[in-house]
Amino acid sequence: MESNIKKIAVLTSGGDAPGMNAAVRAVVRGALKQGFKVLGVKRGYQGLLEDDIVEMDAASVSDIIQKGGTVLKTARSSRFATKEGVETGARILREHEVDALVVIGGDGSFRGALDLSREGINLFCIPGTIDLDVACTDYTIGFDTACNTAMDAIDKIRDTSSSHGRCSIIEVMGRSAGYIATHCGIATGAEDVLIPELYNGDIEETIQKLCDHIEANKGAGKTHFLVVNAEGIGHSEYMAEKIQEKTGVKTVVTILGYIQRGGSPSCRDRFMATMMGVHTIDLMAMGYSNRVVAFKDGEIVDYDIQKALRMRKDMPQDITRVTRLLVRF
Ligand code: ATP
Repeated sequence: MESNIKKIAVLTSGGDAPGMNAAVRAVVRGALKQGFKVLGVKRGYQGLLEDDIVEMDAASVSDIIQKGGTVLKTARSSRFATKEGVETGARILREHEVDALVVIGGDGSFRGALDLSREGINLFCIPGTIDLDVACTDYTIGFDTACNTAMDAIDKIRDTSSSHGRCSIIEVMGRSAGYIATHCGIATGAEDVLIPELYNGDIEETIQKLCDHIEANKGAGKTHFLVVNAEGIGHSEYMAEKIQEKTGVKTVVTILGYIQRGGSPSCRDRFMATMMGVHTIDLMAMGYSNRVVAFKDGEIVDYDIQKALRMRKDMPQDITRVTRLLVRF
């Protein structure tokens, strides 16, 4: 296959994730090496609709590999999720003579990319989200840094929780996926991990199970308890109130929130972002179109965008098994 690409554009979309800058850098520098011109679209699809587009050169991505957030900024755009929005986005890209667009973001951003590809734009997607909830890939840029940030915070909470003999509920990010919760729960030795994938919607039953578990652990001599709760389940304050009432153990809540999004990306996030960025440019140079770059079975791979979005993934069974096995007495 021959590539007829002369100019590309890159944007970051959805929630920001540490390592997005490393991906942007790899895309820009890789594209320049191929002789492509590069445009940066500011603030994701929202910026595209507002024609907020700048030229990029090698220096535009200097000194960003170590920085959290995204220098291109990001946004969520409800207008882009409409037919008019997608058509306008495609028209603006054509006016700029863009031959291929790189979208760095999560599942929602990829759905927008699929819509744009149906308007005749050549799309390349790189998974960048702290939630790891993109079905076609075992890795998303930002996940490792977010987990390390949450783990560090939970370790600190453990110190105070153990000193005071308390139960601590720590709410971590993950609206519909419990990957941060399970990884941090395992890595911090939490007594319980609550994730949307295993939640039956009955909060009273969940609280009763937590209380039974705390009572059993108390009987075995334990004086402090860590519960990692995913954002998708929520109700942390209510759970704390009920646990304290039922068990007599002072229970406090920490919602880690946006701290998990920020900070300098870990080595793994910078490395994976760079590998995925360069892979994307290699695909373009070889004449491929409409691909999602992914990490599968230890390798950087790529899928047709439609196929990637049809994929489903479940929490790996060994993760749920280990979570259940090791964190309970
Ligand atoms: P994160 O997982 O970090 O939240 P994301 O990419 O999934 O990242 P979303 O807010 O879901 O974040 O999507 C980003 C943008 O992509 C949206 O604001 C919207 O413009 C576009 N988008 C989302 N879903 C769709 C869809 N089904 N069709 C078209 N465009 C969409």
